[in-house]
Amino acid sequence: MSFVVAIDGPAGSGKGTITELVGKELDLINIDTGATYRCVALETLNRNISIEDKESIISILDEIDIEFKNTSEGKKVFLNGNDVTAKIRSKEVSQIVSQVSSIKEVRFKMVDLQRRLAEGKNVIMEGRDIGTYVFPNANVKIYLDATAEERANRRFKQNKEAGIEMSYEEILQNIKMRDKNDMEKEIGALKQAEDAIYLDSTFLTIEQVKDKIIEIIKDNM
Ligand code: C5P
Repeated sequence: MSFVVAIDGPAGSGKGTITELVGKELDLINIDTGATYRCVALETLNRNISIEDKESIISILDEIDIEFKNTSEGKKVFLNGNDVTAKIRSKEVSQIVSQVSSIKEVRFKMVDLQRRLAEGKNVIMEGRDIGTYVFPNANVKIYLDATAEERANRRFKQNKEAGIEMSYEEILQNIKMRDKNDMEKEIGALKQAEDAIYLDSTFLTIEQVKDKIIEIIKDNM
């Protein structure tokens, strides 16, 4: 038996920060599904495959091994044995990840991996389609939202801290492009599950969002 908390929402809505904090406090394993798609996007770039060349992207799927490890320096993502935690957040990856994740075969493979990662465990999983597709029977479903401008603002600050050079305008455009792409996907489109609780974090602090989510989860435990 496992307990699954699904946190869905658009880019920059705070899912990453919140799931990490809530996971720690409630002892739930935190799984970032966006990172799995980012790994496929990074491998596409590493192999100089054009984003238009879907066949080649599909053909590398069997050669992609993704692992999440807890290290003394925090949670790390490994792609074929290499630490890619920082690389998967690069501007280049962010620019193509939404298109890469629209490929049906990529989604099937990543969803399979995401379900295996959660098997028999108590998890808090963040993404776009967790409550609607990956775990339609999740114990708790939350749709975390914020205005595009506020989300760009948060990502701008995060990037600055991580040393990623992107202007606010560039980030806002990327977020809007990804929102559109993610909402129009054939499979696993970004949308609120019917039974998800909607939470707008635009005017809330991280602490306030965290407390609200913990309260919701505890009510369902
Ligand atoms: O969450 P993050 O912004 O890192 O996700 C990167 C991209 O991966 C998203 O823009 C989206 O296109 C894709 N994604 C997805 N389904 C998920 C998680 C992420 O399609 N469950």
